[in-house]
Amino acid sequence: MTLQPRPLRCTIKQAEGLSQCRVDTKPSHNMGEEDFTRENGERKGNFSMQRVLVVDKNKNPLMPCHPVRARALLKQGKAAVLRQQPFTIILLEREGGETQATQVKIDPGSKTTGIAIVADFKRGLRCIWISEITHRGHRVRDNLLKRRQVRRARRQRKTRHRQPRFTNRRRRKGWLPPSLQSRIANILTWVKRLRRFVPVTQLAMELTRFDTHKMQNPEISGTQYQQGTLQGYEVREYLLEKWGRHCAYCGITGVPLEVEHIIPQGRGGSHRVSNLTIACTDCNRKKGNRTAAEFGYPDIHAQAQKPLKDAAAINATRWALYEQLKATGLPLETGTGARTKYNRIRQGYLKTHWLDAVCVGDSGEQVFVSETMHPLLITATGRQSRQMCRVDRYGFPRTSAKQQRMVNGFQTGDIVKAVVSQGKKMGTYIGRVAVRASGSFNINPANETVQGIRYAYCQPQHRSDGYAYHV
Ligand SMILES: [Zn+2]
Repeated sequence: MTLQPRPLRCTIKQAEGLSQCRVDTKPSHNMGEEDFTRENGERKGNFSMQRVLVVDKNKNPLMPCHPVRARALLKQGKAAVLRQQPFTIILLEREGGETQATQVKIDPGSKTTGIAIVADFKRGLRCIWISEITHRGHRVRDNLLKRRQVRRARRQRKTRHRQPRFTNRRRRKGWLPPSLQSRIANILTWVKRLRRFVPVTQLAMELTRFDTHKMQNPEISGTQYQQGTLQGYEVREYLLEKWGRHCAYCGITGVPLEVEHIIPQGRGGSHRVSNLTIACTDCNRKKGNRTAAEFGYPDIHAQAQKPLKDAAAINATRWALYEQLKATGLPLETGTGARTKYNRIRQGYLKTHWLDAVCVGDSGEQVFVSETMHPLLITATGRQSRQMCRVDRYGFPRTSAKQQRMVNGFQTGDIVKAVVSQGKKMGTYIGRVAVRASGSFNINPANETVQGIRYAYCQPQHRSDGYAYHV
């Protein structure tokens, strides 16, 4: 992605009063030779893409290097390609080397997570590697739903005589839905992977949407914050914490407490946290269809407008991620979403997941990002299916039992290069392969599927690792 020149962006920013700046973008696949080379044949200055990850001959991480240097090293035979994605080279003679402080910064999102590596050079902080991971949470959910339906149908068909068993399930403490767990696992996988190829000294993540102290400030408190994060029993927990675990009206403790609407629903009261309180069953019934003020407690309403003053509003997934990142043993910096936005707008960066990651926390205040950087796009694909065979929409088997995973040394998800030398499909294809037991594979180069490529034409480039990549 190309951004507009900095002076122009600043002008736009000023005209629009420091809001989101309008930036002309040019997709990376649209870049031509004129973007890299001057008319007289020289390379254009200020061109810097993602750095290439480097390890020494013992596979210990070194500082990532500029692609130009990597190309030279490869040409001289001093280095070899260790891995295609993320592109990593191994120095064949070198052992050890000087490294600088390097931080992996994460902006966790529900669909997409931004990851950036920021190095602390003499001239200041500089972003050297970026990526965006697209999660597969909705696919996990869909798969589980499908499994449940198939099982239910099967139970219905085959074991209808059996008594239902329903009290034999237990969830461990800290359980999260599998769709959310998969997001956390994706991020942890990538932190672990990057630590193998980059000398990471610190981690940073965005932990909270907002600082609860600032919720008092009318500018950032509001429906979108309170409705977005606090749902279901989270709301209940939040209210119990906020009202001190006793009835807001009579102050009784040790009895079952109910969530209560200050302005009743029937009279237009909303489900917003600022309209909710905690009451015992008796008070709730006595209050009936009256507002808190009519019930004789005008101060309750005023108190409800003020949100809780602690970290109770942290999103469960982010909190779980925080715990797991802390378990890596690296120092972990946390930041709020409000701080990220502040840093991003002040530096005139676009709203993207990877730029948000760069701007996370106090350390994101001043980070240099080259204007020609574009992220490695990573999509979580999963590895295999545990389903024994495909079923139709009534739950009956549609296909035969699944075949072996490896076919002629390849498995679905490998990135291969196929050079077809004869026949109708002559040409070179690089892409993700889908194996077929017949040995005649499908290859997916960008946005198209080429069917029926014999395995003998394929050469592995990158073995399946549960992710798909686009540069
Ligand atoms: Zn009460």
